[in-house]
Formats: sequence, structure tokens, C-alpha cells
Amino acid sequence: MSYCILPDCLNEARSGGDYCDAHRKRLQRGQPVAPPLRVARSAWTVLTDAALAYSDVDDEQGYGRAADRLRKAAESYARRRGK
Ligand SMILES: [Zn+2]
Repeated sequence: MSYCILPDCLNEARSGGDYCDAHRKRLQRGQPVAPPLRVARSAWTVLTDAALAYSDVDDEQGYGRAADRLRKAAESYARRRGK
């Protein structure tokens, strides 16, 4: 399992695809993918959730996913802080 390739999206990618279900549907409809899917959660909330999930990982497969999620959350948080 991997994550949606869009930098601000933390959803899991559909198996065999590059995008999550929501972004894949937007692309199929010809809609722009730029607007964030989730605006209710702040970048800080996303980052702390990812950090907690990372600290709870206890297997190799979960580690890669949690590390990827944490990296994306950290990058997203850093981008928003810079604005
Ligand atoms: Zn997505």
C-alpha cells in the first residue's frame, strides 16, 4: 500500500494506482485536483496524528507507510508555516 502522489494528500492510493479514490474521481471527471480534500484538519493535526501513528508502528511494512505519511505531513506543515 502506498499513498496518493499529490503532495498535500495523505490518503492511501488505490491499489495499482498513483492517486487516492477521491483524486482519481476528480481526474476522471476532469475536475482540478488542486483544492484540498480535507480542510477541517489543520496541518499541525495531520502532523501530530502521523507522528503518533509512526511511534506505534511495530512491523516492517507498517513502518514504511508510517514513515511516508509522517514525511508528507511534515512537508505539508512546513509549507503552510512558510506562508
Ligand atoms: Zn489524493
